[in-house]
Amino acid sequence: MPDTTSPFGGFSIDFGTGPAPAEGSAVDTRPAVAAVSSVDRSAPSSTQVLVLGSGPAGLTAAIYAARADLAPIVLGGHQPGGQLTITSEVENYPGFPDGIEGPELMARFRAQAERFGARVVDVEVDRVDFSSRPFRAWADGVEYHGDAVIVATGASALWLGLESEDRLRGRGVSACATCDGFFFRGKEIAVVGGGDTAMEEALYLTHFATKVHLLHRRSEFRASRIMEARVERDPKIEIHRNVVIDEILGDASVTGLRLRDTKKDARTELPVEGLFVAIGYRPNTGPFEGWLEKDEAGYLAVHFETHSRIEGVFVAGDVHDHRYRQAVTAAGDGCRAAIDAERWLAEHAPAEAAVSTAG
Ligand code: NDP
Repeated sequence: MPDTTSPFGGFSIDFGTGPAPAEGSAVDTRPAVAAVSSVDRSAPSSTQVLVLGSGPAGLTAAIYAARADLAPIVLGGHQPGGQLTITSEVENYPGFPDGIEGPELMARFRAQAERFGARVVDVEVDRVDFSSRPFRAWADGVEYHGDAVIVATGASALWLGLESEDRLRGRGVSACATCDGFFFRGKEIAVVGGGDTAMEEALYLTHFATKVHLLHRRSEFRASRIMEARVERDPKIEIHRNVVIDEILGDASVTGLRLRDTKKDARTELPVEGLFVAIGYRPNTGPFEGWLEKDEAGYLAVHFETHSRIEGVFVAGDVHDHRYRQAVTAAGDGCRAAIDAERWLAEHAPAEAAVSTAG
């Protein structure tokens, strides 16, 4: 049974709302699964459905495509299993009343996909060519072909880049108030950031925390005026302007923050039991530059349901969604994309595969 009073649990599916990393922010690119298997170059590299990404969206798409006899190949990406694999307890994924560890949940997704014949390869896509069918993607020197492609490469949270942040992530440091706010009931916490996400997270966290300190590195907020006004009016939120976090304090859990006032160059310590980092997200769209359209926030756009502007290329999960950004919504999106791909393939005869095995 998880300890639901603990500030250390809870999963942080990292949301993506920022088109590019903000200055001075770090994107998490740590491999989540220690052993990345070497690529079997003799295995088939052509498939009816090529899935890019192995988070909840990609693996759910793979489960559905595999059960539709489409023998999908999944290119898992730099963080096999996606963002849930760098989190701890997941308590809001339906079907697990006692909670489940993020890595275990994603291992189950993968086992389920493989059980029905999906092949998951732990490689990162470098580039794609969506000019004609079969669509092509390159990863680790291997060319993969898909009659249809589902792009589910997710988004990466931006982090401050402090060693103490890395160490205390899941131990009081989080990037998702919806996921982890519950654990901070009755506690004093902080949120860092000055955009709408930070405002939203701070307001949401007032439902649990006794006090929320909102820390921003400048005097003007980037957030919309209405959100800023709401935060300013909230008696539970104290705003600290022109402060940066030099260090997150604590060994096993967060006990405070070492802050620096950038105007006065003064250093202080703020005793809090949690820190929510809300400094933006970056969708993983790199390989699709020039192929797939983006929306104004930098996320991949869909034209109809999960269809991209290229027929036969579908988009699912956080690489597209900056509104809900939950494991369960990403999984639902993966299901939709697989069903769309299956229907599309049924109406469009598969292309002749030029290559059937990797060379
Ligand atoms: P933003 O890029 O808008 O804001 C990021 C904030 O984090 C900025 O204030 C930035 O500071 C600060 N920041 C960045 N890096 C660091 C760092 N290393 N240390 C300290 N602070 C840092 O991202 P958001 O996620 O807030 O919003 C992205 C988009 O999504 C926006 O268009 C927003 O309007 C939208 N959104 C809308 C919502 C709504 O309408 N309800 C809710 C959430 C998001 P600085 O200002 O100094 O650059």
